[in-house]
Amino acid sequence: NARDILKHELREVLARGAASPAGASQSDPPANRPDFGSLEVYYQTVHRAKPGYSVSGAEALVRWRHSHRGLLTPASFIPAAEEGGLIDALGFWVLREACRAACGWPEDTFVAVNVSPAQLRRPNFAEEVITVLQESGLPPSRLELELTESSLIEDNLDVYTVLKSLRSQGVQISLDDFGTGFSCLSHLVRFDIDRIKIDRSFVSQLGTKANGAAIIGAIVALSRNLGISTTAEGIETEYQRDFLAALGCTDLQGYLFSKPVPLGELDCFQKAKNGD
Ligand code: C2E
Ligand code: CA
Ligand code: CA
Ligand code: CA
Repeated sequence: NARDILKHELREVLARGAASPAGASQSDPPANRPDFGSLEVYYQTVHRAKPGYSVSGAEALVRWRHSHRGLLTPASFIPAAEEGGLIDALGFWVLREACRAACGWPEDTFVAVNVSPAQLRRPNFAEEVITVLQESGLPPSRLELELTESSLIEDNLDVYTVLKSLRSQGVQISLDDFGTGFSCLSHLVRFDIDRIKIDRSFVSQLGTKANGAAIIGAIVALSRNLGISTTAEGIETEYQRDFLAALGCTDLQGYLFSKPVPLGELDCFQKAKNGD
């Protein structure tokens, strides 16, 4: 079956150390191994609502440049990775790439990395993240880990301890796709969340259904009172951008600003470095 084939191929790619072409000569597969292409990390910028939509950071989004299937997005292979026990290896590879990349960005920016529930269940997850940070030289406060609420629902002591330990070292914790699952307000306080990412499904309702605006308004007001940042995801129109900025979202992300792009095409950071 197709998923089993993907799992097998992904295992081969990860065994080669993911071998992103950006990683120079290591992209040549050893002669005795088949070539299924390589994983790459794309980055999508996140923008401050004020002033002037300046870049506050970027989210790392994995891609698989498959040798005969083309560029695959995560929806087509993350489930296979989770099922095949490969998500740890994949997740840590992305984390390492992202931390290295962010070292070259301005100091007031963050890099956000998605974490799957299976990764969080690892007892040594916090130590492993801190090791990656130390090896890369990125200050912990510039890393944001994006979790989904399903990671917290298990509500077990281990996840609580892992997050507490990461936060005590300065790593930021953000709650992805907020409003879609079993959103539970007590999670925000109990896990001391730094940021909420408001799901695109609410943003895309703006201007069409009245509910979207009411729900976002309530989430933003609540977050502000709790001192939690809010990023609205999936902003595609100027109307959505202006509406959400006026509502008080702290950050905005979406195709209107930028699609996810390879590291070398993140022009905003190049300009910031060469400028003034
Ligand atoms: P997500 O974390 O909610 O990421 C946002 C998704 O929305 C990305 O899809 C992004 O390309 C897309 N997006 C951003 N702005 C817009 C917009 O304005 N309009 C529309 N229509 N879409 C927009 P992508 O890159 O295909 O990633 C899908 C999901 O895969 C992510 O959803 C995340 O849950 C997962 N994922 C991506 N990279 C990783 C990773 O390294 N590890 C893990 N565990 N999951 C990952
Ligand atoms: Ca995310
Ligand atoms: Ca999301
Ligand atoms: Ca806080």
